[in-house]
Amino acid sequence: MQTAYLNGTLLPLSEARVSAMDRGFLFGDGAYEVIPVYSRRPFRLAEHLRRLRQTLDGIRLDNPHDDAAWARLIGEIIARNDGEDQSVYLQITRGADTRRNHAFPASVTPTVFVMSEPLLTPPPAQRETGIAAVSAPDMRWLRCDLKTTSLLANCLLRQLAVDAGCVETILFRDGYMTEGAASNIFAMKAGVMLAPPKNHLMLPGITYDVVLELAAAHGLPCEVRDVSEDETRAADELWMTSSTKEVLPITLLDGRAIGTGQPGPAFRNMYAWYQEFKQTVMRCGE
Ligand code: PMP
Repeated sequence: MQTAYLNGTLLPLSEARVSAMDRGFLFGDGAYEVIPVYSRRPFRLAEHLRRLRQTLDGIRLDNPHDDAAWARLIGEIIARNDGEDQSVYLQITRGADTRRNHAFPASVTPTVFVMSEPLLTPPPAQRETGIAAVSAPDMRWLRCDLKTTSLLANCLLRQLAVDAGCVETILFRDGYMTEGAASNIFAMKAGVMLAPPKNHLMLPGITYDVVLELAAAHGLPCEVRDVSEDETRAADELWMTSSTKEVLPITLLDGRAIGTGQPGPAFRNMYAWYQEFKQTVMRCGE
């Protein structure tokens, strides 16, 4: 049985209910985070909670808890659910109103929801052969830096990949690569790792930061700058990163091979560095 938290109460996930007048349901008016848990310890919790604060500030919603209270609550959910490795999902919405009205209610009681799911890591075959992606124009709004529950555009874009038998959709806006429908994207060219800069057009990924830190620590040359669509398609390697997928090589884009069409040497290094880092900070104590 999965145990969830809803508005101050721990309960079976199957019994968690919110009002049909909740603004999360009516407008997608909320913020969320997904935090991977290894050996029952949340990975990069402080960074996830910082990004949550930035999203809440960006949508003008007060943070219902300070970091210490969030850490206790997340720890409680981890302890009450099965599995050493989990994926904790938390969501705060602007709560239920008495009538449907776009403008905020005069007083807000936010809805706070936390649950845990088993952490599903990608099948090893995806690392060994790479994954296929499609591309699409990035038709989302201009605050993609906020991790809000209004994810319809991301859902539609991601479905394009699924419809084509692929894993991810790479997004281009005004001739530049922004990110994936649910991941950040890195390119390798002539031994240099290229990463689009954090701005309002992409989510500041927690994994994105880890990858940049690992590149710096291991001396992999890196340029954080706009990456054009042409550069993306002509890259030697493309990777996607996210909390649950970690780092995955993209070897096919719109049916055309990226580089040799096989996972590249830089990916293999980065994947090994990522696993080593995880083992060091998560499994053996910090
Ligand atoms: N961009 C988008 C649009 C995402 O939804 C995600 C998370 N699934 C990411 C990037 C990666 O962020 P993180 O590394 O924090 O999971």
